[in-house]
Amino acid sequence: MTQSRRAFLKTSAAAVSAAALLGPRKAFADPQIAPAIAAPLSQFGYGDVELLEGPLRQQFDRNHAFYLALNEDSLLKPFRQRAGLPAPGDDMGGWYSWAPLADIDKPGDNGFAPGHSFGQYLSGLSRDYAATGDKATQEKVHRLVNGFAPAITPHFWDENRFPAYTYDKISIGMIDAHEFAGDPMAFKALDAALDSVINRLPPGGISRAEQYARPHKDDSFCWDEPYTLPENFFLAWQRGAGDRYKQMGQHFLADNWYWDPLAAGENVLPGKHAYSHVNAMSSAMQAYFVLGNEKYLRAARNGFDFVRAQSFATGGWGPNEEFRKPGSGDIGESLTKTHSSFETPCGSYAHFKITRYLLRTTKDSRYGDSMERVLYNCILGAKPILQDGHGFYYSDYNNDGTKVYHPYKWHCCTGTFSQVTADYGISSYFRDDDGVYVNLFVPSRVTWNRGSGRVQLTQRTEYPHRPATQIEVTPDKATSFAVFVRIPQWAGPKTTLAVNGKLAASSPHPGEFARIYRTWKKGDRIEVEFDMPTTLEAVDPQHPRLMAAVHGPLALFAVGEVPASVRPQELAAITQVAPGSAVWQAKTSTGTITMRPFTAINDEHYRLYLDVES
Ligand SMILES: [Zn+2]
Repeated sequence: MTQSRRAFLKTSAAAVSAAALLGPRKAFADPQIAPAIAAPLSQFGYGDVELLEGPLRQQFDRNHAFYLALNEDSLLKPFRQRAGLPAPGDDMGGWYSWAPLADIDKPGDNGFAPGHSFGQYLSGLSRDYAATGDKATQEKVHRLVNGFAPAITPHFWDENRFPAYTYDKISIGMIDAHEFAGDPMAFKALDAALDSVINRLPPGGISRAEQYARPHKDDSFCWDEPYTLPENFFLAWQRGAGDRYKQMGQHFLADNWYWDPLAAGENVLPGKHAYSHVNAMSSAMQAYFVLGNEKYLRAARNGFDFVRAQSFATGGWGPNEEFRKPGSGDIGESLTKTHSSFETPCGSYAHFKITRYLLRTTKDSRYGDSMERVLYNCILGAKPILQDGHGFYYSDYNNDGTKVYHPYKWHCCTGTFSQVTADYGISSYFRDDDGVYVNLFVPSRVTWNRGSGRVQLTQRTEYPHRPATQIEVTPDKATSFAVFVRIPQWAGPKTTLAVNGKLAASSPHPGEFARIYRTWKKGDRIEVEFDMPTTLEAVDPQHPRLMAAVHGPLALFAVGEVPASVRPQELAAITQVAPGSAVWQAKTSTGTITMRPFTAINDEHYRLYLDVES
């Protein structure tokens, strides 16, 4: 979410404890009201997938502990203040607390979007509870809903720039508290919150251009995101909140300016705010499921293809939070013009959601490829959020890049960060009647019922630093089903798949899920070895010499001395200094370049795109 054009420039210049894992709980995966169309692949419940020790588990635990420790009075304060209730506790400051409207460009406590991320913290905690069964997390969710319910008032929306944006987050917070933490008050609070805001919402899913054309206090009042509302309205309806949520979902569909042209193959993304328009694609997917209209699926697929076509080698997109005109060379030029290259936690959250929806609907493994690029090159390398609310916002792909904290506290990305890490488990595996789909190669265990028995898959891997994964299948009795393994599009011809040490008859096809069907017995083992090539990717067709080295899914960043230019064969011959290491080296005629993935970069300067001699 954009702070303001001026603030961008300023920003650019600046540089749980492991909760006890209980047994599987209620799956929570299936909605109560079936939509018109069910995706062929289902999601697992949060409690079905356990992340095992590894970088994803570490980031999940760190975020779980951080959000669990947030001060509840401070979180509730902006709501209580407007309701005229006693409002103890410190202001959180930054975007989160009330401040005079004129303070918008003040980097300190600027009150940009009071209470905006409350619902996201609640959503993240509810999902964390569902994933871990940690009672303290569930109790915190209950206390927050109980504190919020009496503090709902129409006055909250007075002088609020973002009623749709803020309500959308409250909405996901309440429906997740209901669904995943079994909160008994959450639907009542959801209804009251909708009643409080309904007359303040924009008149439908209008665009930013249409918001500018309406009377407004200042520009910042034209950046609301009503076009993202339908996803959570439709989810609320499916989870049993009532028919009016389905109607509201339909009311906010952005057909005329967004879904109709996208469905017709017209690229209307250039100039649009990046994160919110990708996030809105999940609304198109829910519209497709709920209304059964194939137009919305077409719109989401086309829209996502347009995004992919202007992505960086990391999978990130939208420099300065804006989509660019194809053929303009703007993406390449952003490497010298901005440090705000990809809004990382929000963008990753939206990216994970839309790729999950599209993968589940099409079974096209390339959506999984796209998700893992964003995982390893973007969100997994985000700096951890600090106690005072300073969080990671932009990934920086400038030729002189660094990782920095955003100067504004409690910004949008502190909300989505809590949700995207909570979703790591459910992004890793999917299923259908035929069997189970292994989408991400992460240390993890998935457990589910099949027929009258239970099946467990345990994955052990140091992927992508080691190009292999091992999956142990443990049914409680011999069971026949298929295990589908994603074979990335980049996988080379030497990629192999073996069961109990025996190589599959034919080598797997890159860009598809490999299907292994058999009667599985306890202790059966699948081993995948990936032939992981290094490719060079130009930033855009207008800058063919500016290239990033991409090893399998990993974009590699040069650190230390970087020569003015390198030969393509030197960069492509990059080698990992030792198996499993996070350091790669390219030998050039003028010396050795050291390269690392984003997750292995701390405070040093780095460069993603090198000048490669043609
Ligand atoms: Zn953000």
